[in-house]
Amino acid sequence: MLSLVAGLRGYFRDPVTPEKASEEIRRAVETREQRFLELVRTQVYDRETSPYLKLFRMAGCDFADLQSHICRHGLEETLEKLAEEGVYLTQDEFKGKKEVVRGAQSFAVSRKDLQLQDADRGLILTQSSGTRGEPQRFALSLDHLATSSSLSTAIFFSAHDLFRYSHAIYDAILPTTGGIRYLLRFAKIGIKTDRWFARRVPLNSWPEAAFHHLTTSLIVLGTKFFGPGSPWPEFLDGHEVGRIVNWIAEKKRVGEACCVRTTASNAVRIARTAQEMGQFLDGAKFVVSGEPLTESKRAFIEKVGGHAIPCYGCAGLNQIGYGCGNPRHTDDLHVSLNILAVIQQPRPMDANGLAIRPFLFTTLSPLSPLLHINVENGDFGVMETRQCGCALEKAGLTLHLHHVRSFEKLTSEGMNYFYGDLFEFFEKVLPAEFGGGPGDYQLVEEEDGNAKTRLTLVVHPEVRQFDEGKIFARLRAVLADGPRGHRFMTGVWENAGTFRLKRQVPYASPRGKILPLDILGANGERRTENRLR
Ligand SMILES: [Zn+2]
Repeated sequence: MLSLVAGLRGYFRDPVTPEKASEEIRRAVETREQRFLELVRTQVYDRETSPYLKLFRMAGCDFADLQSHICRHGLEETLEKLAEEGVYLTQDEFKGKKEVVRGAQSFAVSRKDLQLQDADRGLILTQSSGTRGEPQRFALSLDHLATSSSLSTAIFFSAHDLFRYSHAIYDAILPTTGGIRYLLRFAKIGIKTDRWFARRVPLNSWPEAAFHHLTTSLIVLGTKFFGPGSPWPEFLDGHEVGRIVNWIAEKKRVGEACCVRTTASNAVRIARTAQEMGQFLDGAKFVVSGEPLTESKRAFIEKVGGHAIPCYGCAGLNQIGYGCGNPRHTDDLHVSLNILAVIQQPRPMDANGLAIRPFLFTTLSPLSPLLHINVENGDFGVMETRQCGCALEKAGLTLHLHHVRSFEKLTSEGMNYFYGDLFEFFEKVLPAEFGGGPGDYQLVEEEDGNAKTRLTLVVHPEVRQFDEGKIFARLRAVLADGPRGHRFMTGVWENAGTFRLKRQVPYASPRGKILPLDILGANGERRTENRLR
């Protein structure tokens, strides 16, 4: 705890200004090739246990080859060439859930071999809300927040004129890191967050809850003592988001513009509540992440006068992208080229009977929690370089992503659930207990007319005798089974009232595949099918 206090004192020593941030990001972008080579030399070639070393060897690429290829063709082109030759990891391989098989050789990845050595990543042990398999623990790195996230946040705030706004956060306290990360990033760029509306997170035991409350409180106190100050979390029961609407309305009365940092689903929930309360949120901005900002979610927020700005991040990679100041698409994002590289898998994968080219991410910062070299995060989308003229571009972040979607996860309510885990349940367990066979049950993630994400259990009409109550109890039990993350997520989904049942023939892909999970957009369009690239 003492080291936490000392860490916070150090964290606030050098405040970040947009000018300084722009300069440092630009410099980091200019040196990304050298920094990547240095990272690979120390963390891969000098490290016999590195899984990437095995992949580089299989591809017949030694350090000198890598160096000269990058020198001649640049970083991205080299990463693409490496991916073609098998130097990449799928999510399952990265997480050690599946053996890495390339040609005749195979091996398993161990998490400790992905951790960067000799990197002081900070002090606060916490847990991501990532929900596949084992709970994922990451150190929340004050150094990383100070040296990269805060810099990008400063530029992002400039691009959207957010320095003159009053800010509120609607996110949980620790062990979920979202709320604390935003609070610290805002404080580092001199912003005193006005209100922190906190979602409650179910925990396993009271000592654990007490630990996370205490740590959260210490950080808030540290921010008050060493930085610009920050609010105590105000816990909202269920979805009492009316308090957030009231905060926006009060600020509006005194002529202050408001910005709320939360997930896209929560922003829609706030917009819907405002509509029910007869409040117009004109001028309010919502910076949203955690799940795709779809056209219908954006439209719903705009209907009450709000404005949605997307951000894109994921556990282990931190902030991947920041919403463009002059967007051409709903989720037009600038990639954090200063801390990572992204390419598209050169060989398309087959998902839902369709060709998809997943994103592959590469870490450039030695402060990242885990080393990524061409690692899938389960998403795909469109990449383009264009001149938008916003502050993020001026800082050197010239690569844009848009239409980012997940090909293997439920993304409802900002949580993720790997659908591979559901195959056995939908194809074996349910038919055995309730009748029917594989392909008779499907979970559909879709948006209803109010841009609210819903999970629908689709059951084939020919499955005749089953008890709806029992089948939902079974579904909840399987979703809640396993690590805490799953229980948390099931709770969130239930609170949102997202489960419903439909009797219809489950959707089959053009090639006749019926997946346990099907993801639909608001107009019933299949997101995966719309993203053929
Ligand atoms: Zn831009």
